[in-house]
Amino acid sequence: MVIRKSRSEIQRMRAAGLIVAQTLSALRKMTEPGISTKELDAFAESNIRKAGAYPTFKGYRGFPASICASVNDEVVHGIPSNRKLQEGDIIKIDCGATLNGYVGDAAISVGVGRVSEEVEHLMQATQDSLFKAMEKMVDGNRLHDVSFAVQEYCEARGYSIVREYCGHGIGQRMHEDPQVPNYGQPGTGKRLQVGWVLAVEPMVNLGGHHVKTLNDKWTVVTLDGKPSSHFEHTIAVTEDGPTVLTALDDGSIRL
Ligand code: MG
Ligand code: MG
Repeated sequence: MVIRKSRSEIQRMRAAGLIVAQTLSALRKMTEPGISTKELDAFAESNIRKAGAYPTFKGYRGFPASICASVNDEVVHGIPSNRKLQEGDIIKIDCGATLNGYVGDAAISVGVGRVSEEVEHLMQATQDSLFKAMEKMVDGNRLHDVSFAVQEYCEARGYSIVREYCGHGIGQRMHEDPQVPNYGQPGTGKRLQVGWVLAVEPMVNLGGHHVKTLNDKWTVVTLDGKPSSHFEHTIAVTEDGPTVLTALDDGSIRL
């Protein structure tokens, strides 16, 4: 069952989402060759707590950190470690914050120093597909209109869509109904309604779509070892159209 949120609940989710946005924006600036993913995690945790919120990921199903940090062929759920980022890496940083009982969830991909043109284009397409999906988040549209927007945009550019992981409803819990796949038949699925809040998160591979989970039980990697990209925003369906709850307070949605 999809839990619809009132206007005041959406305002509370916005407050949580803003902390996520500010944290990711700072992490992007810190991302350079030589920094470890553990250092990024430590900053994220302290920044979220300083804002009076809780890092939602910490302890979630036993996850040991406040961000997921996934490098190169790692798709999602990478565990921060002493691994130092190197020139040319692509890192996906996924971050959640809970404030006054409501959750915000967003993710960015960042090139470390100079990255190859193909990785640059992959990141750009992934982020653009998220905005294409967002445009579909209006009252009366179908759920898979959102999904198909991602699929159509990315597959037209020769990329592949990860099948095993998807976006989700979000509110007082990080993962609520419905699941939001990044592929699907347009015109099918539940009808979106004002008050729905979805975390939309394209996970897009340069090579094939197949993935596997490493022995640490968390880190998901591409089977062919090629790079993957991931962007996510928490977005509300409102009377005024789609509203990004994890945007910066200057209104910028590109973190
Ligand atoms: Mg996330
Ligand atoms: Mg999510």
